[in-house]
Amino acid sequence: MPKRDGDGWVDCDCGIRHWGRFGAAGLLLLRCDTDEPQVLLQLRAEWTHGGGTWALPGGARDSHEDSITTALREAHEEMGIDISALTVKHVFSDNHGPWVYDTVIAHSMGDAGARIANPESTAAKWSPIEQVESLALHPGLKRSWLSLKSLTIDSLKN
Ligand SMILES: [Zn+2]
Repeated sequence: MPKRDGDGWVDCDCGIRHWGRFGAAGLLLLRCDTDEPQVLLQLRAEWTHGGGTWALPGGARDSHEDSITTALREAHEEMGIDISALTVKHVFSDNHGPWVYDTVIAHSMGDAGARIANPESTAAKWSPIEQVESLALHPGLKRSWLSLKSLTIDSLKN
């Protein structure tokens, strides 16, 4: 297994220090077998960056990975997601220049085995798309949510 080399901070042009030397990626998983499609969120543990807020599973990209590989690996590590149960629909790039966060939008029929799988999160939940913005969101997710929301709704149409 290649060495993990993505861990580290980047001082970004936006004035924020971001995690991930080669950027970062996360998974927006939409469960489509319920009456209303639902987004998987995790509550970040208090000791983590952005602790106590709801976020997508994700983390630093390693130099040998593409962002889909990173997002699926992190979703498996953090939430036990069975990545063979997913269909990738879209990748949204939040490009800051020196740093990029790619959000991979995927669908599943069923819960894909989602659970709390490591100490970085303390709770997991499925939220209807329209209710996500009423939660206390991680600042990064909050910033891109409106774009992600419209892409998520679009992803249901094709
Ligand atoms: Zn930035």
